[in-house]
Amino acid sequence: MSFFVAPANSEALHRNDERMRYRPFGSTGLQVSALSFGCMRLSEDQDLNTRLIAEAIDCGVNYFETTRHYIRGTCQHKTAPGLQGKSGGVIVSGKEGIDPNKTEYQFRREIERQLEILGLTHFKFFQVGWFSWGKMPHLLKPGGVWDALRKAKDEGLVQHVGFTGHDRPENFIKCIETGLFDSLTVPYNLINRSYEPVINRAGELGVGVVAMCPVAGGVLSCESDRLKEALQMDLPTTEMALRFVLANPHVSTACSGMNTLDQLAENVETARNFDPASDANFEAMCEGLDRLRRELGDRFCTGCKYCMPCPQGVDIPRHLDIYRNWKVFGLVEHAGRKLEQIPAAESYVNCNQCGACIEACPNALDVPSMLRELEVNFA
Ligand code: SF4
Ligand code: SF4
Repeated sequence: MSFFVAPANSEALHRNDERMRYRPFGSTGLQVSALSFGCMRLSEDQDLNTRLIAEAIDCGVNYFETTRHYIRGTCQHKTAPGLQGKSGGVIVSGKEGIDPNKTEYQFRREIERQLEILGLTHFKFFQVGWFSWGKMPHLLKPGGVWDALRKAKDEGLVQHVGFTGHDRPENFIKCIETGLFDSLTVPYNLINRSYEPVINRAGELGVGVVAMCPVAGGVLSCESDRLKEALQMDLPTTEMALRFVLANPHVSTACSGMNTLDQLAENVETARNFDPASDANFEAMCEGLDRLRRELGDRFCTGCKYCMPCPQGVDIPRHLDIYRNWKVFGLVEHAGRKLEQIPAAESYVNCNQCGACIEACPNALDVPSMLRELEVNFA
């Protein structure tokens, strides 16, 4: 017996051109809202969550990123009420991780489970989560995850497949060059441009790009004169941050984890008002940021952790991350706040200048003097 199942995305995507701009989502033919909603930071206040999701849809946001696993397993429960009666033409992506033992049955059950929680009939996008090039054999194993996704697509349960993760950029380029994926979701912002080569390659290949953490998880919420100068914009840092991400022509949507109505209103306003074609010169913005980065010269910590553990317990990479955001991007307030959050046992105050970290560091960074600089300026 054969029967027809309507494709999962046969309806047009929701839009509100008065309040939102739209961009092509890779080569899917879909027009995704420039601002999308990451549901991983929804609050404990369910009334607020419901209002936020519903209001975002009213503003024309048509992409919501979810997984059953965020917020201690409650993310999709918190998202679902706001979607009620409004999910038509809206992309709500689900996500599930994989491992060598994951079977086709288990992955299929997970898709169904997430749909059930969200109250949806299908996923327009489903993401292979926490993915890396090393997991490709697990993905493609016969009787495994890819078979589940292929059948779900055939049945209209899933329309498009993307992936998300934190692997090395060159590995993610290999992932998108397989041609298996319609989108990828990676962190991208003013202070973390490490995935820019992947985003460029995605643009060439017609793979949609969801840029997450556009304000670097709140790091870019404080003022920075250095960033204003580098980007030639006199705007609040959060607005510059969103503009920078949207100025990249290969970014399909900037996915912000929002949990207040004010944040949503500000981001919607920025996404609506910012026209990358006339309001920005992306190359000039990148040049400005590269200039800042060059000022740090060789004192750039890659976070490789070869210097760890420090015999005095100092969390070296954490301090040098703060050092970079302070020295390069002028995020003074952020640096002070972050230093205060470091437990006493891991603080720079414990450094006895032994020099072991300099020996261990492949970049021969003079860590003790950088820590000293932090101490002089922030103690
Ligand atoms: S110089 Fe300071 S930070 Fe480096 S290993 Fe020695 S105690 Fe740790
Ligand atoms: S070894 Fe050097 S580059 Fe690596 S984390 Fe330590 S200080 Fe940073």
